[in-house]
Amino acid sequence: MCQDGGVEARGMPDEEVNGRRCPKCGAVIDHLDYWERAINTGEYWPDGFRDVTPSHVDEYYFLCPECGKVLFDNIEAAEKFLKGQPIKEDDICPEDY
Ligand SMILES: [Zn+2]
Repeated sequence: MCQDGGVEARGMPDEEVNGRRCPKCGAVIDHLDYWERAINTGEYWPDGFRDVTPSHVDEYYFLCPECGKVLFDNIEAAEKFLKGQPIKEDDICPEDY
């Protein structure tokens, strides 16, 4: 027996509603982990370090919180990714660090 109401609703895939899919592990994620490497400078004396001051950030990376792999090394690509805008293959870091 046929049912009434023939309009078939086609839902969007979950990942497009709830978050972004990690290009490396496929997990659906709603944020990225952030990691930065800074160069800190100071002096090393016989009694230890002195005057160590944190300096500028040398490198920074955005990582998938699920697989821990580096996805981006520039904030523009990371922002685009989280906002669901198209990103280029070149924007994704090919290597893990
Ligand atoms: Zn991942």
